[in-house]
Amino acid sequence: MNILRTKERGNLIVISGPSGAGKDTIVEKLKEINSNIWVSISMTSRKIRSNDIPNETYYFVSKEEFEERIKNGVFLEYAEYNGNYYGTPKDKINDELNNGVDVILVIEIQGALKVKELIPEAIFIFIMPPSMNELRRRLVNRGTDSIDKIFNRFKIAYKEINEVTKYNYVVVNDDLDMAVNKVNSILVSERCRVDRIEDIYLNNMEEELHELLVEKDLDNDIRE
Ligand code: ADP
Ligand code: 5GP
Repeated sequence: MNILRTKERGNLIVISGPSGAGKDTIVEKLKEINSNIWVSISMTSRKIRSNDIPNETYYFVSKEEFEERIKNGVFLEYAEYNGNYYGTPKDKINDELNNGVDVILVIEIQGALKVKELIPEAIFIFIMPPSMNELRRRLVNRGTDSIDKIFNRFKIAYKEINEVTKYNYVVVNDDLDMAVNKVNSILVSERCRVDRIEDIYLNNMEEELHELLVEKDLDNDIRE
């Protein structure tokens, strides 16, 4: 019989960081090395970008449709960011967690703080760019936003970086593979926490010793 019985429920992992820090790139690579994760698909009222795949990168809806869903209590959390709504649909999250899967939310900071209020045991990871210069380079190279939008995202980034202390972990995304490994290590370590232990099964020590040391003829094993 196994000595330990640990909590089977998955962990809720919240990943934030300035736009362009590399959150989506890291999560895509994480999926290749960790099959026990499910990445929540958010809903947004922002315009579809050339690299978006509807119902895969986001569920795209109009502002009015989004507001209707807010009224209907569809979201675990939602926030307004850069002039658009973004929200995490509640459904599916609990099922995945109950199936022992780690659920990943890639969301901005206001939303992350709401999740922290609702689910304090969630794990909060902040992805940090190596420098502001590199962040600017990545946003420009990604080529998905106008200069105006990039300017705005850059201004928001300054505010966001000051919130890093509200998170449990920070991963600097300099070398991509290293950053992916660090995030995966956090997920693996969190599974090893002592507070996940639900029961410890140890037989009577006298009986166990007798069986192990006397009946199994340990003396002989040692002499050989
Ligand atoms: P976010 O999801 O945080 O907005 P993305 O994952 O879209 O950021 O990454 C922004 C840009 O930076 C993308 O073009 C991506 O290919 C690039 N990128 C991500 N990580 C790295 C890295 N470690 N080194 C260089 N470029 C990176
Ligand atoms: P983007 O427009 O670059 O796809 O996303 C802008 C920001 O919104 C990113 O920081 C992204 O993580 C965040 N975001 C995406 N989905 C959600 C969500 O469901 N809730 C919240 N609060 N933020 C989200």
